[in-house]
Amino acid sequence: MKNAPTIPPRCWAEIDLAALERNLRRIRQALPPHIRYVAVVKADAYGHGLHPTVARLMHAGADLFAVANVAEGAAVREIGPGWPILVLGPLLPEEAEFAVHYDLTCTVSSFAEVDRLDQVGRQAGRALPVHLKIDTGMGRAGVWHEHAPALAAEILKRPHLSLDGVFTHFSSADCDPEFTDRQRRLFLDTLSRCIGIADRRLLIHTDNSAGLESLAEDGPINAVRVGLLQFGILPHESSLLARVQPDPVFSFHTRIGLVKTVPAGTGISYGRTRVVSRETKLAVLAAGYGDGIPRACSDRGRVLVRGRRCPILGRVTMDQTVVDVTDVPEADLGDEVVLVGRQGSEQISLGEFSHWADTIPWETLTSVTKRVRRIYRTGLS
Ligand SMILES: *Cc1c(COP(=O)(O)O)cnc(C)c1O
Repeated sequence: MKNAPTIPPRCWAEIDLAALERNLRRIRQALPPHIRYVAVVKADAYGHGLHPTVARLMHAGADLFAVANVAEGAAVREIGPGWPILVLGPLLPEEAEFAVHYDLTCTVSSFAEVDRLDQVGRQAGRALPVHLKIDTGMGRAGVWHEHAPALAAEILKRPHLSLDGVFTHFSSADCDPEFTDRQRRLFLDTLSRCIGIADRRLLIHTDNSAGLESLAEDGPINAVRVGLLQFGILPHESSLLARVQPDPVFSFHTRIGLVKTVPAGTGISYGRTRVVSRETKLAVLAAGYGDGIPRACSDRGRVLVRGRRCPILGRVTMDQTVVDVTDVPEADLGDEVVLVGRQGSEQISLGEFSHWADTIPWETLTSVTKRVRRIYRTGLS
């Protein structure tokens, strides 16, 4: 029996793994050599697909991986042994034993977590690696900085915990350098008040992609947590980030399922929010919000058809999106359409696409749905 032919995708994301590898190497080169690279791969590696992304980052030289929770950590552990895996988020009580089973490093922000992990470590007969997270103004996970020295001392007292790292997270690294600087100084000051950690070999980290350029050459910080930037997206303009010049890893594609011409006065899509004022050639795309084209792009977004920008008309629907191709007379059934990425000499960046949707690149990437096939380009870098 012949294999059934593969049904071609109607909407797909192309993931350029060679670009991912180049980006990691460029980011590394832009950083002082002693800085360790923590590759942040939470949320299915920002929607790029966990397994291929992590495998390539392992090959490219990531030192550690960071994930949001124990289930994600377990999935990374299955891909390759040896790499430390840091769980960034707080644990639910019953997750601690799984952290041990999959050899994950947990983040602790409270005495309750210290108790729980110490107990689980005792049952397992070994000391569990933990990182202490300090809240210096993010107001989310982390022990409030004033209570951090006491929590650090408590961790050091526990025989079944091993303090391997200390970190904080910036709330405004992309928009408020002054506040970020205050947070950094508060962190370093808090660190100096934690007794007994100076002679330990700790991983000390504060920065995500947006904070990288303000990283000092000297001082105790010896690791960075890189998410968005390794996927080729600048969180904001800055000298270091511009110097890195990362290449986009993700692009987003669909096809034209129908071409037709409607007379002036025709309402387009649900709610008739758009009524065309001229005879209009429409292309009906084979993708909608069920694929990850945000409904907020309705009547605002642009797509590339035959290398030209064409406006989205009316509401984006679950499976179909209508665009105006009146100015692209050669547009035809089956044409490939670029939602994010390059076509000919034109380009739509993820930032631009996200702006149309009133959101941020992180959310756009993690909103591409399961229906969208991920196609990996694995060329050598
Ligand atoms: C997601 C996350 C990061 C990575 O942030 P990017 O802006 O994508 O580089 C770093 N640290 C923590 C604690 C995170 O949750």
